[in-house]
Parts: sequence; structure tokens; C-alpha cells
Amino acid sequence: MTEPLRCRGWRQEGLLRLLENVLAVGEKPDQLIVYASLAKAARDWPSFHAIVAALKDLHEEETLVIQSGKPVARLRTHAQAPLVVMANCNMVGRWATPEYFYELQSKGLIIWGGLTAAAWQYIGSQGVIQGTYEIFAAIAERHFGGSLEGRLILTAGLGGMGGAQPLAGVMAGARILVVEADEAQIDKRIARGFLQTKATSLDEALATPGSIGLLGNAADIYPELLTRGIVPDIVTDQTAAHDLLYGYLPSGYSLEQWRELRESEPERVMQDAGLAIAREVSAMLEFQKRGSIVFDNGNNIRSQARQFGIADAFDIKVFTEAYLRPLFCQGIGPFRWMALSGQPADIAALDDLVVQEFPEQARWIDLARAHIPVEGLPARIAWLGHGQRTQLALRANALVAEGKIGPIAFSRDHLDAASMTHPNIMTENMRDGSDAISDWPLLNAMVSCSSMADLVTIHSGGGGYAGYMTSSGVTLIADGTEAAGQRLRLTLDNDTGLGVLRYADAGYELAQQTAERHNLGGIGRFDAEGRPL
Ligand code: NAD
Repeated sequence: MTEPLRCRGWRQEGLLRLLENVLAVGEKPDQLIVYASLAKAARDWPSFHAIVAALKDLHEEETLVIQSGKPVARLRTHAQAPLVVMANCNMVGRWATPEYFYELQSKGLIIWGGLTAAAWQYIGSQGVIQGTYEIFAAIAERHFGGSLEGRLILTAGLGGMGGAQPLAGVMAGARILVVEADEAQIDKRIARGFLQTKATSLDEALATPGSIGLLGNAADIYPELLTRGIVPDIVTDQTAAHDLLYGYLPSGYSLEQWRELRESEPERVMQDAGLAIAREVSAMLEFQKRGSIVFDNGNNIRSQARQFGIADAFDIKVFTEAYLRPLFCQGIGPFRWMALSGQPADIAALDDLVVQEFPEQARWIDLARAHIPVEGLPARIAWLGHGQRTQLALRANALVAEGKIGPIAFSRDHLDAASMTHPNIMTENMRDGSDAISDWPLLNAMVSCSSMADLVTIHSGGGGYAGYMTSSGVTLIADGTEAAGQRLRLTLDNDTGLGVLRYADAGYELAQQTAERHNLGGIGRFDAEGRPL
């Protein structure tokens, strides 16, 4: 039975359920922390309650304005306007440092919203699982004859996002050893069905098949493996290394000491975390020299290591440029949908629909159905491309209209074609050198507003990511109405369309061909004399 509505309509109710859901599946809901060490759903509890009250009362002709997790205005707009617009954690360039962020945070003026935390789009560890799986699959294809059978992956971190790694590794057919410093995190991933076994010693871990969570510090275990002459086939790390104060446990510290020293001696903690990261990255570089496939999994670990003296840290490649850029050139990225009714049957119906409409997704959907547990609102992620997302969302909206499924929310990770600039993750080595230009995510957010999306947000990095990134997020509620159909069509087409045009503009032929195939943009290219190119 679907719970009764508490708001004036499904659009508002859907957003409220998404806000509640990011806390239900988040890491430290009592502190409003969802994932990535500090990423929060709302500024503080009074802000949370004020957002809930505003959503409950919000009319369709209004827009709720949220600044760094705090509701600041309820403006009169119109029924086609977004219901919620947000800006989270944006600081002016010169001031955007971790230290200044922590100061503003302690004054209660700002939060790090992560990508999907403050945007109420987080769906638990599934949110990155297909991305991680695709990377492993691409590595298998490129380096191991198409299969990871019998191969060993070494990684670290079993947090909100890192917790997806063991399941993605097993889905890709590999054995995967994940070093995690907090035993409670290992237990949590086992309880949630993302990890198979816990080990408390390296010997035990090395003798265990499947996915293994090894209790220990990555800065100690990686060098220890080298000393023993063990060279894993694939090496990465997904601790929250981006944040030196809250995200990476320094070597030799207990969890309790870490918590205490963070308060009493923050500078020492940051120094020790940086030195430990440097040790881990040195080991990763040595693994690479000895033949492992090593990649940065989006946590800024290379930048931190370089700051702490590892000059060649960037010899390790980031996963996006190496494996995902060709997908982004086609507007393919981490699209996701959530069953607002709470019914797994709604997701099952959409799984069937995806397989029927896009047979190439059958393998992924079969794997997801077999392996991915339900966390919070039933959800699915699938890397669909330009046009496909719209096609699926419109079919889903029609099913809602026919009463065959309940309302569905559609969203995506911020790490998508048009929506992120992060010169060390998303946009490293762009062909035209546009790595650090954040116009694209800002344009993306404005285009989503123009396309009448339900929720639109602009985020920049906070904590250790301060000064590193800007991104935009978008959410739509398919409530079965014609108006929802129009919002879905315009927003989803324009979202991926702009992404493809971004890569086309940067000179990627695949994106130029995709733009041509889909007749995107319509602005001709001219030389300085006005002759069409
Ligand atoms: P989290 O804070 O929920 O978890 C981090 C985990 O690392 C914790 O369980 C912590 O105990 C463990 N850890 C910290 N130091 C350790 C050490 N020295 N040795 C072993 N374990 C240690 O963070 P999360 O949500 O899992 O995110 C992890 C990182 O991935 C972040 O930097 C985040 O920004 C990044 N991220 C990447 C992507 C992507 O697309 N690849 C997506 C989302 C997040």
C-alpha cells in the first residue's frame, strides 16, 4: 500500500520522499551526513524541518529556494517552474580552500552537499555500482582478454560509495580485496549484501575467495603487499582521501584518537593523513611499475599525494578519461530512477521495460536484478544515452498514467556529460584544454530550469574538494500527467544533448557524430570570414 500524500501533489511529495530517502540510506543520518565523509542532506536539523514543512505546503506555482541546505525563500513563480532550486557549497574561486570551507562550516553558513546528498538524489551504494562495474569490465576488455575470472582487485574504503566496489568486482567475475579501517563499515556492507567476507589478517584475506573486507589501514596494507611480492591485477582506492581532516585515517591512529585529535590538533591530523596517503600512492605507483592496472577512482588521492611530495602521482590515470569519456561523448551516463511508492514491483516493471526497449542493457539488468539489494526506496541505475533516457521516462510516465506503476522519480549522478567540471576527475586532459572551465555545469543547470525540471541544483566542492569542482543536478517526477511528460522530454533531451555538444565543441569526433546523428544544437560552425565549416 502506498503511503498517503502529505503534500499538495506528487511532485512535492516525490521530492520529500527523496529527501527522506537520502537519510534512510545515508551513512550518519543522525548528523544529516549521507556519504563522502561530510556530504549532508540539509544544513542542520532546523533547516531540515523547515524544508519538510515548506514541501508539505508548497503550491505548484511556487519555487522553494535552498542555499547550502537551508531554505531561504518560497517564491511565487508558475506551474511550469522548478519546485525547488538549490545552490550548495559554491565559494568564490580565490576563497575556495578546505580551510576556509571548514571555517564557514563551523559558523553554520555552508555545507558540502556532495553531488547527490544535498540534492536528495542519493540511492545508496547502487549509485556508483554500474560505473565501477563498467570500469572493471572495460579493464577486462582492454587488458585481460574480456574476463576477470581468477584476477585479483585491490582497493580500499567501504563507505557509502566505496561500499559498491566489492559487489561490482564480484559482478565482473573477479576476486576483490577491500581494505577498510573501520570494522563497523565492513559489518554494514556485509549486512546490506554488498560484501561477502570479513578478514582481520592479510593472510586470512589472501586465502579467501570472492569479496573480502580486510580490517586495516590502506597506507600500511598496500606497502605490506609489495613487501610480500604480491602484485594484484587491478589496484585502486576509494577511501574519502579528498578530505584530509575527515576522510582518510592516518596510519597508526585508532578511530577514537582520530576523532579526538581532529578537534584538538586538526593541522597535525591533516599532515599525518597527507603523509599516509603519500605512502599509499607510492605503493600504487610501484604496483603500476610491476604490471598492475592502476587507476584513480575519483577521490582526489593523486592531488593529495602530490601535495605531500609524490611528484609522479599523476602517472596514475583517472578512470573518467581512461574509460568513460567515450560514453559521455554519446550522452551515455549514470541515469537512475526511484519508485516513490516504495514498491519493488515498480522497479521490476521498469527493468522489463529497459530490457525490451534496449536489449543491449539486458546483461546489466540481469546482473543488477541478481546482485543488487534494495536499499531504501527501490531504485535502479543504468547507463543510458541521449534519447534513450527520454524514451524510457516517457514510457514510464505512461505506465503511471495507466495506474500500472506508482509515480517514479528520474535523476542522474552529477558526474554526467554536461554537468560536471572537475579537472582531476571528470575533465582531466580535455582535448581542447577546457579542463577547468565550469561554464558547462552552470549552463546545464540553467537549461534544466528552462526545460521545467522539478528540482535543479548547482554544487561546488567542499571539505577537501573545495576549489576542485562544480556540478549540477536535476530531478524529475513522473506522476503520469501530460505536464510531467513535457518536463521529462525537454529536460532529459536537453541535459544529454548539451553534454554531447560540450564534447563536440571540445573536438571529440564521437560526440560530433552523435550530435549530427541526433540533429542536436542546430548552430552551424563558421570560420572567421563567416564561411560554414
Ligand atoms: P565515506 O566517507 O562514506 O567512506 C570512506 C571510507 O574509507 C570509510 O569507511 C573509512 O573508514 C574508510 N577509510 C578512511 N581512511 C582509510 C584508510 N586509511 N584505510 C582504509 N580505509 C579508510 O566515503 P564514500 O562515500 O565511500 O566516498 C569515497 C570517495 O569516493 C570520496 O572521496 C568520494 O568523493 C569519492 N566518490 C567517487 C565517485 C566516483 O564516481 N568514482 C562517486 C562518488 C564519490
